Order: sequence, then structure tokens, then C-alpha cells
Amino acid sequence: MSLKIVHNVNLIQQDAPALPATLWIRNGRIENIESGLSSLPEGDYEYIDGQGHQLIPGMIDVHIHGANGFDMMDGSETSIQEVSRACADTGCTSFLVTSVSSTIEELLAMIRSVKRVIGHEVGAKIAGLHLEGPYLNPKRKGMQNERFLRHPNLAEMKDIFNEADGLIKMVTIAPELPGGMELISFLKEMGVVIAIAHSDASYEEAKQAFAAGASHVTHCFNGMRPIHHRDPGLVVAAFEEEHVSLQAIVDGIHLHPAIVRMMHRLKGPDGMVLITDALQAMGLGDGNYVFGGHHVTVTEGVARLADGTLASSTVTMNEALRLTVETGISLIDAVKMASTTPARILGLDTVGRISTGFDADLVLLDEQCQVQWTMIKGDIVYLKEIKY
Ligand SMILES: [Zn+2]
Repeated sequence: MSLKIVHNVNLIQQDAPALPATLWIRNGRIENIESGLSSLPEGDYEYIDGQGHQLIPGMIDVHIHGANGFDMMDGSETSIQEVSRACADTGCTSFLVTSVSSTIEELLAMIRSVKRVIGHEVGAKIAGLHLEGPYLNPKRKGMQNERFLRHPNLAEMKDIFNEADGLIKMVTIAPELPGGMELISFLKEMGVVIAIAHSDASYEEAKQAFAAGASHVTHCFNGMRPIHHRDPGLVVAAFEEEHVSLQAIVDGIHLHPAIVRMMHRLKGPDGMVLITDALQAMGLGDGNYVFGGHHVTVTEGVARLADGTLASSTVTMNEALRLTVETGISLIDAVKMASTTPARILGLDTVGRISTGFDADLVLLDEQCQVQWTMIKGDIVYLKEIKY
């Protein structure tokens, strides 16, 4: 039996101001939370002193492709493990392994590797798969490789679902393509989150997709028809639909701070999630990389194709959190957008909150949102060198 006490932390909890607190953790779960500076009980406990730092629920990234030089589409278990480790190092405790448009063989190889790794992750837990493509619109392809984009193909999708054994949690599609609405019906039946992006959907087409079961917009504003006052498009349709949530890449590049504030004002922290959309350059910095069959150059942290198209990001979840706070959004709301809301969208009911009975998936952050340590189910999986 493992008993731990995390004390001297400032709890960043939804709907409440930051509070000093002490947490009791038994067998990987939060057993009790006491606010205030309580005196520590004697006993067979492991004591973890939070040094007055901020404690948040572990973040959940629903959109990440790679990190630290590892691209999860390469089909190797090592790449998935290294991304799991990089996630944990940056305050993320669960993530969706995210594909990029590819051949079916490459996608199936990646899915097989995920099945071998899940349950043995060295860092953040795999909460499932997010298929970004390949049924996307070349007109809004962004960095998706046109070679691999195709019209929705139900038979192919069924094969992919069969291989994935229930691991697919989110699929990003362009609903306006021929067969798009049939694909939505199938995905709805499968119970996955239906997300829209790399789409040229008009307002009317998007409304139809949302009425049919789509409920999420991948990297909102990026890779889709822009807002025009006589052609409002997918984004305005998403703002109008209460059940639709949005992904935001808050890296200082993909979205202007005023747009991040507008998304927050219109959707609230329950209606948007922070993602990294990171490629393998995350954690490595500037240089030349390959992603989705393209050459990508990273300069001053910004990843672009040769023609200047933005190609994913190099932001980390803790950096996205800091940049969100910099736009003027409260830390409490930013944490909701990074932890609580993605957990709810994915239907994960034991993570995303610091609450009695929840998994002890916790992250200790300093004032600059630098990760001091990351705990997953009560075990510290990342520890910054701190002088105690
Ligand atoms: Zn992506």
C-alpha cells in the first residue's frame, strides 16, 4: 500500500480561488483534500513538500503528433514512449496519439504500435487515438500532405476501427466532401468525438454536420474557411452551437491573443481546449525535420513548409498554459481548458480534476508555469532538479 501526503501547495481548482492545501493519496487516488495549512500527521506516509507552488490537475493533450525528435507516425513503439515521456515532462498526464494523413498501411502500423505500448507507458497515459485525416479537403490542407488526402471511404474506415480495438476517441474530418455525412453517421455510431478541420465547409454545411453529430473543431481558425461577413463558414457555425467545443493552439503564432480571448468569451472554459498539435521538433528547437511526408523547417520555434505554410507547432502544454494566461485569461480558466474540459470531452471520469476519488494525476507548477514535477496515479514520473 502506498500512502503519500502532498503538502504546502496552492491548489488551482475550478470555481474557487487558489488555496493552500494538503492532499492525501492512497494507491494512486486522491483520498482526502484539506484546505489551509494543516499540521502533518505522523504515520507511514511519504511526504512531498510542494514548496508553496501551484498544484493543477494533470493536463490532457487531445492533439499531439511527436516530440523530442520522435514522430509517432513512424510506427515504432519507441516514438510513442518518447512522446509519452515528453508529455509528462511538460505537465501532460494523458494524451491522444494523433495521426497525420498517410497511407492506410502507415496508419495501421501506428495503431498496432499504440496497442503494444498502451498500459506500459513510461510517462503520460495514452487516452486513445485521434485520427487527423485522411478524409480532409485539399483546399484547406495546411500541412496535410495532398498525396494522402482522399474522399471518405466507409469500408476503409471500418478496417481502421477494427484494427484499433476501441482505441479511437476522436476523428477529424471535412464533412463537405462526398460521403462526409455518411461518415458522420458511422462515427456517431462508434461513439467517437467527431471533429472538423482542414475543411472548406460553409456555414450551412457545418450546421448540418453539427446537427448530425459533429461536436468539436480541431485547431479552430487554422485549416478552415475564414470568417467573412457574408460567408460566415464553419467557425461562426461552431460559435453558435452550444454543444460544439473548440481546440486552440495557443503558441503565440497560430492565433492572435485577441482571437484566443474572443474564443474564451464566446465559448467559456468549458467549450474550448488547449492543444499542442506538436510535431517531433517540440523539445528540440530549430532545425530541419520531416512531418507528414513533408520537409519542415523550424525557425525560432515556428515550423513551416518550404512555401511558408504553418506546419504544426513546437509548443508544450505548460507553455500553452502560460501563453493563455498572458492573453488575459485567468489561470483557473486556462487549467480548465487544459485539463477538465478535455477530460469531459473524452469521457474520462477519473482525471481532469483535483477531487476526492480522482486519480492522483497532478502537476506542480511555479509562477512561470514551469513544471516542477508530474505525478501520474500517485507516482512522480518527472521531477525537475529542485534544491530542497
Ligand atoms: Zn495536427
